[in-house]
Amino acid sequence: MRRISHWIDGKPWSGDTDRFGEVFDPATGQVAAHVDFAGSTEIEAAVSAARTASVEWRDASLAARTSVLFGFRELLNARKRELVDLVTAEHGKVTDDAAGEVQRAMEAVEFACGVPTLLKGGHSENVSTRVDVYSLRQPLGVVGVISPFNFPAMVPLWFVPNALACGNTVVLKPSEKDPSAANFIAELFAEAGLPDGALNVLHGDKVAVDGLLEHRDVRAISFVGSTPIARYVYETGTRHGKRVQALGGAKNHMVVLPDSDLDLAADAAVSAGFGSAGERCMAVSVVVAVDPVGDELVSRIRDRIAKLKVGDGKRPGCEMGPLVTAAHRDKVTSYVDNGTGEGAELVVDGREHEIDGEAGGFWLGPTLFDHVEPGMALYQDEIFGPVLSVVRVPTYEDAVGMVNANPYGNGTAIFTNDGGAARRFQHEVEIGMVGVNVPIPVPVGYYSFGGWKDSLFGDTHAYGPDGIHFFTRTKVVTSRWLDPSHGGVNLGFPRNV
Ligand code: NAD
Repeated sequence: MRRISHWIDGKPWSGDTDRFGEVFDPATGQVAAHVDFAGSTEIEAAVSAARTASVEWRDASLAARTSVLFGFRELLNARKRELVDLVTAEHGKVTDDAAGEVQRAMEAVEFACGVPTLLKGGHSENVSTRVDVYSLRQPLGVVGVISPFNFPAMVPLWFVPNALACGNTVVLKPSEKDPSAANFIAELFAEAGLPDGALNVLHGDKVAVDGLLEHRDVRAISFVGSTPIARYVYETGTRHGKRVQALGGAKNHMVVLPDSDLDLAADAAVSAGFGSAGERCMAVSVVVAVDPVGDELVSRIRDRIAKLKVGDGKRPGCEMGPLVTAAHRDKVTSYVDNGTGEGAELVVDGREHEIDGEAGGFWLGPTLFDHVEPGMALYQDEIFGPVLSVVRVPTYEDAVGMVNANPYGNGTAIFTNDGGAARRFQHEVEIGMVGVNVPIPVPVGYYSFGGWKDSLFGDTHAYGPDGIHFFTRTKVVTSRWLDPSHGGVNLGFPRNV
């Protein structure tokens, strides 16, 4: 059985590990590998390697740091197909979707390559007589990155390049469900010239996460995952004195106004609802149809679902793959089993969709419910699978009120041809990322990614300018160089004259 080891101090960890997890091929249901789970020995080894490397890396020139980042970018570009295949093999998303993930990850790498400009501080000359003031951005030290299963390449690369570019060293704890992408990334960084210990990969479960949250040498934690764990990570990490950004789950609404182009809206609902089998934190899971578009919109979505090809992501033509594990598939399927009992209308039953794949795969086809109501579990829970709910409301005000009342605040979209309505929506809606006729408004790499409300704990969003802010602390220097006119002893509070 293939074994996936930790990556510590520039090499695979060779120590004995008695705990491990199973990694599946979701398209067959077979166990593809065993992944080592960290205990206290491995946690200590990874943090200690990062702490030692930090001494050299924080003093590496910006030229030296960017040379590694540019090198990594070149290597990743040359070998991206390998990473795409790893993502498809362990996550299950289809090849084209995995390629999109890797391309968006590269945006974050390219942003970090601009770190010399991004780290520029301010300078004020002569704030007092012959006194100058300037600000510096300095690294935090060792930082932890904890990532979810659904973007095994992109989410680590939201954080790792910025953290390294700013002079920090990193311990990355990827999801135990699809851990190989993290090792691939660490190996490419080593090949690009990153010093040993500057990026370590620690595999495992809650033990590894708690080890990082409690370790006194870890200065900051960037976390992405479900809301209950994000809240726990934020509370535990901050209690241990760390800077924490913890991005959580989502329930994204797409509002369709009566004046919208219904074909565009139906295409968008299907793409954003069923891409990556709905396992995206920016997936659309609720379509809010404002009267009278409901019947026509549901009919167009149903027609499109019928044509979707579901199957093994490695097979040509498949548009939607399996879910990540049997347990997750069963959980998502339970919402389909129970939805009609709650009073929703099952328009398309994904349990009956034809599959181009092996019987043992973790399949569930695209599912559509109509007449979903806010009190139902279908509406309230983050299902994180290919289950799309349509809620019908009489007015725009009802639609925006529903979005704002939802505890999650990751993404939303409005479909309309009325610029005034769209402008009002983007102003009023209490959501971190908003699309106007764009269903998955993931910001480009030079903006930052983050939700509001229960979708983010902490003040700082991921990647882009917020990433540089998160991974540095500022220092302000006030300096005066010796001058014959210095004023002698003065016990009063310094005044600027
Ligand atoms: P998860 O919360 O189960 O796991 C995330 C990470 O936390 C993993 O590394 C996991 O090993 C670790 N973990 C799991 N249980 C833990 C525990 N009890 N204590 C400590 N650590 C624990 O999330 P997931 O299922 O891997 O990913 C899907 C979730 O991530 C969804 O809720 C999705 O919305 C969310 N997500 C959010 C964003 C965002 O940007 N807001 C992006 C991607 C995914």
